[in-house]
Amino acid sequence: MSSKCDSCPSKNNCGGEKSCSKLTPKYGKIKNIIGVISGKGGVGKSTVTGLMAIELRKAGYKVGVLDADITGPSMPRFFGANKKRAPILQADAKDQVKFEPIETSLGIKVMSLNFLTEVEDQPVIWRGPVINGVLNQMFGDTMWGELDYLLIDMPPGTGDVALTVMQSFPVSSMVIVSTPQNMVSMIVNKVVVMAEKLNIPLLGVVENMSYVTCSCGEKIRIFSKTSAEEHAKYFNLNLIMELPVDLDLTENMENGTVEQYMVNIQKYTPIIKDIVKSRE
Ligand code: ADP
Repeated sequence: MSSKCDSCPSKNNCGGEKSCSKLTPKYGKIKNIIGVISGKGGVGKSTVTGLMAIELRKAGYKVGVLDADITGPSMPRFFGANKKRAPILQADAKDQVKFEPIETSLGIKVMSLNFLTEVEDQPVIWRGPVINGVLNQMFGDTMWGELDYLLIDMPPGTGDVALTVMQSFPVSSMVIVSTPQNMVSMIVNKVVVMAEKLNIPLLGVVENMSYVTCSCGEKIRIFSKTSAEEHAKYFNLNLIMELPVDLDLTENMENGTVEQYMVNIQKYTPIIKDIVKSRE
């Protein structure tokens, strides 16, 4: 493999420079790009992306988050940054622009379409090719700087945008997010198969909303009697972690104080173990 491929996060799963058609960011050097995907909305993919970003940052890594859920962006609210707007700067004399990401209080660099639009709750009513073009620009023209990890919050489904990220971005691996419900597993399995067909390594499954903890300390699995390990076997993947329904987490996400909440707790730290291990 040529030296040009040495710094590419997807160098182990592409055909080398001759067949490489991967987009690289113009204003940054990113060591690892990890997609977080679920295939179905509402299972907690954005929450897991945010938790992973915070835990990686707490572990001392330089971290960025790209909100690729263009029609349903939620990372600005997760980080309590929804009132901020990303500066759009002129890149050269040909009217090309570049974007400055928003930096959270812990120093995570975030880019989302909601930082570029005037009003947070107005929809973008665009067809697939326009959405893909915007996403390419948000990935390629953001001033990421040097990052150890860029996490991509993927849109639900196996459509155009998911395909663009998997085919055109130099993704090193992906994390699957699911909940313990057969209907959800069936849909999530579609993205598992899609990623496998596109030769993207999968690090494992995070099972979200697995249980609630009773005041007596007992874990009550609210959606399924089957264990999280058994559910992960359905996808033929390793279980990264099972997450409880955590009302403190919800409250802090709603208030935009999730970083302050996470700094003081360790219970979510194992969520990054497989990401870090895969790069050792
Ligand atoms: P997705 O990105 O898959 O659409 P989100 O991460 O936006 O899902 O989560 C959907 C909703 O569920 C959000 O309101 C979020 O705050 C809440 N949520 C997700 N995971 C948990 C959890 N483990 N505990 C409590 N609330 C959660």
